[in-house]
This record gives sequence, structure tokens and C-alpha cells, in this order.
Amino acid sequence: MALIHNLGFPRIGAKRELKFALEDFWKGNISAAALLTRAKELREQNWITQQSLDLVPVGDFSLYDQVLDMSVTLGNLPSRVAQLKGGELDNYFRVARGRSVNDSDCDCVHAGEMTKWFDTNYHYIVPELGADSRFSLNPERLLSQLEEAKALGVNAKPVIIGPVSYLWLSKAKDQSDKLALLEHLLPVYRELLAKLADAGAEWVQIDEPALVTELSPDWKNAFESTYHSLKASKVKLLLATYFGPLQDNLQLACSLPVAGLHIDAVRGRKEVINVVDWLPAHKVLSLGAIDGRNIWKTDLNATLDWLEPVADILGDRLWLAPSCSLLHVPVDLNSEDKLDTDCLSWLAFATQKLEELSVLGKAINLGRSAVFEELSVNQIAINSRANSTRIHNPAVKAAVKSINAELGKRQGGYGERVNKQRAHLNLPLFPTTTIGSFPQTADIRKTRRAYKKQEVSAAAYTAKMKAEIERAVREQEKLGLDVLVHGEAERNDMVEYFGEQLDGYLFSQYGWVQSYGSRCVKPPILFGDISRPKAMTVEWTKYAQSLTDKPMKGMLTGPVTILNWSFVRDDQARSETCLQLALAIRQEVQDLEAAGVKVIQIDEAALREGLPLRKSEWQHYLNWAIESFRISANGVSDETQIHTHMCYSEFNDIIEAIAQMDADVITIETSRSDMELLDVFEEFHYPNEIGPGVYDIHSPNIPSQEQAVALMNKAAQRIPAERLWVNPDCGLKTRQWEEVIPALKNMISAAHTLRAQAK
Ligand code: GLN
Ligand code: ZN
Repeated sequence: MALIHNLGFPRIGAKRELKFALEDFWKGNISAAALLTRAKELREQNWITQQSLDLVPVGDFSLYDQVLDMSVTLGNLPSRVAQLKGGELDNYFRVARGRSVNDSDCDCVHAGEMTKWFDTNYHYIVPELGADSRFSLNPERLLSQLEEAKALGVNAKPVIIGPVSYLWLSKAKDQSDKLALLEHLLPVYRELLAKLADAGAEWVQIDEPALVTELSPDWKNAFESTYHSLKASKVKLLLATYFGPLQDNLQLACSLPVAGLHIDAVRGRKEVINVVDWLPAHKVLSLGAIDGRNIWKTDLNATLDWLEPVADILGDRLWLAPSCSLLHVPVDLNSEDKLDTDCLSWLAFATQKLEELSVLGKAINLGRSAVFEELSVNQIAINSRANSTRIHNPAVKAAVKSINAELGKRQGGYGERVNKQRAHLNLPLFPTTTIGSFPQTADIRKTRRAYKKQEVSAAAYTAKMKAEIERAVREQEKLGLDVLVHGEAERNDMVEYFGEQLDGYLFSQYGWVQSYGSRCVKPPILFGDISRPKAMTVEWTKYAQSLTDKPMKGMLTGPVTILNWSFVRDDQARSETCLQLALAIRQEVQDLEAAGVKVIQIDEAALREGLPLRKSEWQHYLNWAIESFRISANGVSDETQIHTHMCYSEFNDIIEAIAQMDADVITIETSRSDMELLDVFEEFHYPNEIGPGVYDIHSPNIPSQEQAVALMNKAAQRIPAERLWVNPDCGLKTRQWEEVIPALKNMISAAHTLRAQAK
């Protein structure tokens, strides 16, 4: 009999209950005890949802982050919180977010660094290590949750992060060799496994997603020695890998001395049969056959077609699961009451994915006829999606087919364009601009919400937004900025705003996914061929331009960012979807130009995060991503100045691709790093113009004009002054006007100083 299990369930709750509880606690509105009670209720609810599984994950729940939880379990919190008053929970939140409850005599410390969890949009708290790090076991969270689960009568399988991946995800603050810490870490893991065995756990899921990345020989050896050292434990270990195929780590993963291996059989489908061949006959193979990274219904018959022969070989050794933890998908489709029946029938959130898993399990164990009804309903939905005219638009497919290299080319090279643009725009040396958004005041958000609920008329809404645009324009004129923006008052979110106006998108009401801590995002769902029924930004931009003689920058989100921040279709290559988006944005760029807009910015904030996990696959991604950007941007005359913006500047490894985008100007985030991140420009001669951010918009602090001058002077050591712009790190929408005005004042007087210096 094949057994069914799950790797992890979303913890935020179907209606984001955890978020609201956390934020209430941080504001001091509820007690720690109340927060813990709500967390316990959520866990119980999740277990009840999963109770038909043979094994249910325990320990996947987290108040903030599962990696931080593991750091607590291993006694590896940074020493800066140790001497502060308050209990364990306070220290936990201090590492997570710099403070616990927002009380007045707050013991603030700097929060742990946050970074992306593999290629997902989830952010974890990076464990901090040093050569002198030592570990000690703190198993209470796992043991008490195991008790809770057993009390509910579910068959619990504790989930922990494995020692090698834990080190892999950590940062050695002193640059020491992280692997040297294994000898101190492994005894704690052995002790933990013993405790879990004593508490009655038969299986422990030990997550080692680092196995799907490119590993150096040292790291491969670390896997060998680690699992040999854990071999004698009394629990059975299920070594879980996910987010991709194992490739050159396949034999290693198969040979480690554990009782079972889980692989991502969605992204690693082609490898399944090799793993079946390589895996020793005493081991269980768990196949992640249901996609844990998207929101589409699984084609169950097609899955069974490849699964049944594998099941015949494996027999009782086969387990079935989602490909990875369901953390990365929303909780329950049943909360959606605004989606039409077609769309509803195409989708599956976490709860529905477990139902699919259970059908697969029955089909494997009892034959397809035992789930005839379920499979038929599934097939109808799959066919309806495959054939729907709402999804397939022949005109769009034909347009993508007819794309040729010319579409991605500007008329002249940068050398020609720059002179035409200077004449056209008449800008000073060190021109000043901002990244697009101005503060989204409570008032703006209130009006937008009311408009959505139809409590405010379209006319009243437009009037309000126009007033905000006018305010932003007047402020910028008073400040003396050179290239103005309209301020993006009318935009809720830089991707959703465009998704709402494009055909091929749909929106859920409760499709929330945790991004970090209490922060959730609701990615729009790109379900069909993309087309642009009408211009999306031209009216607002024209209005803004009508208020001023200074150039008004048109503001768009680029195709790669729209793609990377949406749930996208799984029935065609991402590159194809991206090209469709590129053609739609290209039309918008051309419409803006035709309306007299001389400067157009196309944000690609999420370009970098789309990079595949393995470096060997980067170039392929960059090829189509950069081509998509170029198609969207380059259909304009030489006089029109194209800007792009990215919220980071870790460009060292992709700088050539960035240069190939051929934007006239790129603005990037640099102020926090003291311009160090511009070092790459010492070796690589970036050909076009750059605006390295001088105002850290993530902080309420106001940069002085001296600071801004110093930062720009550093930049000028690497990039010729005539190609530098002066601007903030990113958009200003999360800031207050009271901070923005003085900060921009200083930034602009810094530009004046720089111009005087240059004379
Ligand atoms: N234009 C956007 C803004 O200013 C850019 C935001 C971003 O890069 N994340 O808000
Ligand atoms: Zn940004």
C-alpha cells in the first residue's frame, strides 16, 4: 500500500488569523498567552484538515519563520539578545524583527538578516554563525507540538531542517568555514532525534533542500559524514529534498544512510525512474507528485499514467506527497465566493491539493475505478482549462510567434541616443529624479478601498487621485527635481495594478501566501493569454504632464517582474508567458511616447529573484528575461529616454545581462552598502547611465546632504560623472511626506554641490 503524507501546511490561516494575532500582540493589544492560544488553535485546525493523511507534519507551524525556529531548537540565537530582559518569546521576536512588543522602554536590537528561501518568495531569518558558535538543544517546541498532535489523534511526523541545509542557509559573520561547525552541531541533532524517538515519533522528516543546488565536494562530503553520524538514531529518517531535480547529487541522495527519500517529482519528473533505479531496496521513496508551488488543479489521470508503473515497481515502498511544503500556496479555495465556476474548477489551494493527494493514493492502492467519480470530475476541469477560449487567444499566440530580433533593438546605439536625449530633455549634470511612488497616505488607501467597494463614485475617485497627483507634482516642482513622476497614488501594488487591466489575469479574495512573519502577499493569477484591451497609464501620465513643464516620467512595471510576482500558468513555458507580457507593455510604452511622454521607466524589481537555483541554468533564464525587457522597452525613438529600476545592486554575477537590457538609465539601491556594491563597475565598464540610490527609503532616517555628496563622490570614482543620476534607493510609498520632503531637499542640494564641484 502506498502511503500519503504532507511536508508542511501554510500556517497563516485561511483568513490570515496568524497575521492579525501577531500584529495585535506586537501592538500590545493581546497578551502572549492569547497569542499562543491562537497559534495552537491554528495548528489544531491544520491537523484536522490533514487528518485523512497517513502521516501529518508537526513542527512545520511557526510563529514567524521555520528557520528561526530551528535556530531556537539548536540554541543558536545571536548573543545580542541574550542579556535583554523579557522571556523567550520576546527574544524570538527581537531576532525576527528587532523588537518584541512595541512598548516605550523597548529593548531594540537589530533584527536578523532576512533572505529568500531558495527560489520562492518566502523570506527566512538567516542564522548567524561564527567560528566560536556552539549549540545546545532546546526541544520544547517540537515535543509539545508532538504532544498536541497526538492528543488530537493524528499520526504525527516531526519536521526539522537538516544540519547541512541549516549550515548552508546560515551566514558566518566572521567568514569562517561553516562546515567546521558540523562536529558541534551533530551531537545536538543526535540528541534531538533521540528525544523525538522517546516521545513516540516513528518517522522524522529531515529537510535537506540544499541537495537540489550545485554543491562543492566539501558540501557533498558533509552530507556523507552527517548522515553516517545520524545513522544510529532510533527514529526513521525521511530525507526531504524539493524545489528541483537532484541532478549530479542524485547518487549521493540515494546512497545516504536514511530510511527514506523524498524528491520533487514535479520539477524532477524526468529523474524519478533514475532514483527508482539507484535507491537501495530497503528504502522508502516519497514522490512529490502534486505541485506545491502553484495553484492549478493537478491532471490526475496524466499523473497516474506515469505513477502507476513506478508504483508497480515500488509497492509498499512508495509514498505520495506534494512536491514541497504547501507553505507557498494559499490555504483554501472554499473561501473564494467571487470566482466564477470555470475558474474555480481550474484551481487548487493547499486544502484541495491534499484532496487530490488522497484521490491519487486511492487510485494507486485500489485502482482507478475506486475513484472513478473523482477522476471524471477532475478530467472535466482539466479539459475545460485546456480548451477554454478565455485562456487561448490565437491572436496573442500569433503575435508571439512573429517576434523577431528587430523588436528588441533600439534604432541607434546609446552613443547616438544620449546626444539626442540631452537636446530633447535639456537636463543638467547629475540630474535628479525619484523612483516613482510618493507616500501612500491613509487617506489615499481609504479612498481606494471605498472605490473598490463601490462606496465612492468613479468620478469622485478620479478627482481624489488627480488631487494627489497634483500635490506630488507641486511638491516636486517646489523641491526642484529635474525629472518628475506622478506619484502612483492610483496604484495599490505595482503588479496587481497592471494585472487588473490586462486580459488573462484573475484575482482571488483570500489567496494569501506568507512572505515573511506577518507579511502576506496575494499574487495575482495569470491564467490565460495576455492582451491589453486599452491603455493602462496614459491618462494619468498625461494629466500629470499637463501640470508641469518639466519632463514627466511614465511609470510601468516590466514583464519579468509581473511574471515573477504572479502565480503563472503551468501549461506553457514561463518564457512564452513573459513574451506575451512584453508585447502588452510594449504597446503601453508606445502609447506613452505617442502621448508626448519623453521619459519612461520600466521597473524590473524582481528580475534577479527569477534566477534559477542552479547557476548552470542562469544564462537560459537571462536570455529570455532580457529579451522580454528589450521587446517591451525598445520600440521607441532615440529621443525617448528609457529608465529601468532594480531594488538591489548585487549585480556582480549578472552585470553583463543588465548592460544588455540597454536601458538609457538604470536606478538601483546602493545607499546602505555605502556604494560598495558599485565595485563591480571598476572592472565592468557599464556603458549607459546609472542612478545609485543615495536615500535609504527603508529607514525613517533623513540622509544629510553631506552624506549624499559623499556617496555620489564614491560613485563618481567608478562611473564618469556625466553618466550619474541622483535619486533615492526605491519608491517612497511607505514613507511619510514629513520625511520625504527634507530628505529630497538634501538630495537635491547634494546635486547642486556636485554640479558646482564639477565646474
Ligand atoms: N516605481 C515603483 C515605486 O516607486 C518601484 C517599486 C519597487 O521597485 N519595488 O514604488
Ligand atoms: Zn525598488
